[in-house]
Amino acid sequence: MFDKILIANRGEIALRVIRACREMGIRSVAVHSTADADAMHVRMADESVCIGPAPASESYLSMARIISACEITGAQAVHPGYGFLSENAAFVQALEDHGITFIGPTSDHIRIMGDKITAKDTMKALGVPCVPGSDGGVPDMATALRVAEAIGYPVIVKATAGGGGRGMKAAHGASELEVAFRTARAEAKAAFGNDEVYLEKYLERPRHIEIQIFGDGKGNAVHLGERDCSLQRRHQKVLEEAPGPVITPKMRAEIGATCAAAVARIGYAGAGTIEFLYEDGRFYFIEMNTRLQVEHPVTEAIFGVDLVREQIRVAAGMPMSFTQDELEINGHAIEVRINAEKVPGFSPSPGRVRMYHAPGGLGVRMDSALYAGYAIPPYYDSLIGKLIVHGRDRPEALARLRRALGELVVDGVDTTMPMFRALLQEPDIQNGEYSIHWLERWLASQFG
Ligand code: ADP
Repeated sequence: MFDKILIANRGEIALRVIRACREMGIRSVAVHSTADADAMHVRMADESVCIGPAPASESYLSMARIISACEITGAQAVHPGYGFLSENAAFVQALEDHGITFIGPTSDHIRIMGDKITAKDTMKALGVPCVPGSDGGVPDMATALRVAEAIGYPVIVKATAGGGGRGMKAAHGASELEVAFRTARAEAKAAFGNDEVYLEKYLERPRHIEIQIFGDGKGNAVHLGERDCSLQRRHQKVLEEAPGPVITPKMRAEIGATCAAAVARIGYAGAGTIEFLYEDGRFYFIEMNTRLQVEHPVTEAIFGVDLVREQIRVAAGMPMSFTQDELEINGHAIEVRINAEKVPGFSPSPGRVRMYHAPGGLGVRMDSALYAGYAIPPYYDSLIGKLIVHGRDRPEALARLRRALGELVVDGVDTTMPMFRALLQEPDIQNGEYSIHWLERWLASQFG
């Protein structure tokens, strides 16, 4: 087992990893930018290294500086968290070259899944169901029109290098497709430096269902059920729950087994998420994330496992600490993402937090790096906390969420808390009846 792990991240996820390290008796090293000198992850880690100025490109995204920090501190492994360098194959390669362990899959697996066309081809070959669409990239408008005709409108143009919902445009007919094709390509070029796009059938009212998998890198893998992350704004998740309100045990067992078998066959190591759109009883693969997800705590809650601890064990060459048969679902969990944003425009609201009070009690987990007096810097993601509740069933989890949101106090900055309080009053949310378009429609009806 490692003696010391460096965490190449900040905020709540850095704390999450530090906590796992501490419970395992492993020393933790925080890295930070000058803007984060007073951040909680720096205070909580055993050691810290300043790796550069505020812009992430010169600090949290600087491979050279992070590797130097490992060498200075003697850290043997790096946990990347999510975002930043967590799905960067070149970073994993550079760590390997320096004899430092990356806590995650191999650079090859990251590369395969990072390119959406290659990922889709790979999954299809492994027997995972996919959205009907183009065979690979679509080079020009004429091809796009021909493919769309063949699969039938509506279609969606997506960037092969895509992420964060960028470079994605739906079209309901030929004239719309011409615009969608051009804008998706331009957006992809600007965001990812790669304008390759592909076409998929656009599903009208799907749910976003993702399967948590875990592999030991030696050909064994398990699944930990699904999360329903359909409540999204601009393709960004805002609330996630597990198990999914419409997924039956039989469906879970089937799709879970398919996913576990697929990743076992490629010798996948560590945590991963296979994302699907789900409509009328069928699953359609959209992408695989080769890292820990923001919403992993809902899975941890219902299975009673520590996924970060498991990631560290497998990276150290140890076996997984559970078998598929030992993984049993217990109750229901919901997470809401608290962002420092002003509703309804969702403009970022950085600034000083005057008062912070975290909710507590049975079945409540608050993952946050906030403290009273902390100044939220304007340079990074606006996620400031994740409130996760666990109950014996969905109604209990909802009641607990309502109660916990009532206790949570974040004073001094605007947050998305008022949106969640209003959301929980909605019958559709109470009944679990929502698709990926529900939230945008509701926001439009509430705030125009
Ligand atoms: P990203 O990597 O940018 O997040 P994804 O492929 O994961 O892109 O898709 C993000 C979201 O976009 C999905 O959760 C869904 O809301 C929407 N989406 C993607 N593909 C389709 C599709 N074929 N039909 C309808 N909606 C889609």
